[in-house]
Amino acid sequence: MAQAWLSAHIQAGDTVIDATLGNGFDALYLAQSIGKTGTLYGFDVQQEAIHSTTQRLQDEPCEQVFFLHGHEHMMAHIPQDKHGHIQAIMFNLGWLPNSDKSVITHADTTILALKQSLQLLAPSGRISIMLYPGHHGGDLEAAQVTDWLQTKHLHDISFKLEQIRVPQRPKAPILLQIQKENI
Ligand code: SAH
Repeated sequence: MAQAWLSAHIQAGDTVIDATLGNGFDALYLAQSIGKTGTLYGFDVQQEAIHSTTQRLQDEPCEQVFFLHGHEHMMAHIPQDKHGHIQAIMFNLGWLPNSDKSVITHADTTILALKQSLQLLAPSGRISIMLYPGHHGGDLEAAQVTDWLQTKHLHDISFKLEQIRVPQRPKAPILLQIQKENI
């Protein structure tokens, strides 16, 4: 759902960010959506994730720039002339599937990255966030990220916030969709 929602907005030649590369499945989808003239930036704190993503995307013709650094530092890595021109940013939180479950994303750094993402985004640009309240640590992250966004949104209507969840299954993944106003 997150992929489909983002790609409905993405056009060939766009610049997009995968904030959590992991095994590179989302990055592949983004790379295919931006075509050969697009640019994909990616972040992950694990070398293994950078490696699998590089392998998975080796035949994709778009420009690919991956950073072995936390997404909370994204502003410092994205070139100045791209600030305000990013069309889509994807967060798929939690841990790297089939790997070390002790390396997980945390609300404090996720929120820092979201603040920067809102600044980097182009008018009408989109951010998707998958939260996983079903695992230890993920429940806290989901609650804190959702609270932060809802509070920010009350005071700052320059973006639209939507939440997709299964109310009768509190541990099911939650999708947050953010769209920046077209101003
Ligand atoms: N999108 C991936 C799945 C991501 S899993 C896919 O399609 O396969 C979550 C990833 O977030 C893990 O690889 C983990 O290493 C990474 N991560 C944890 N903390 C991070 C941080 N501060 N910045 C960037 N990535 C982080």
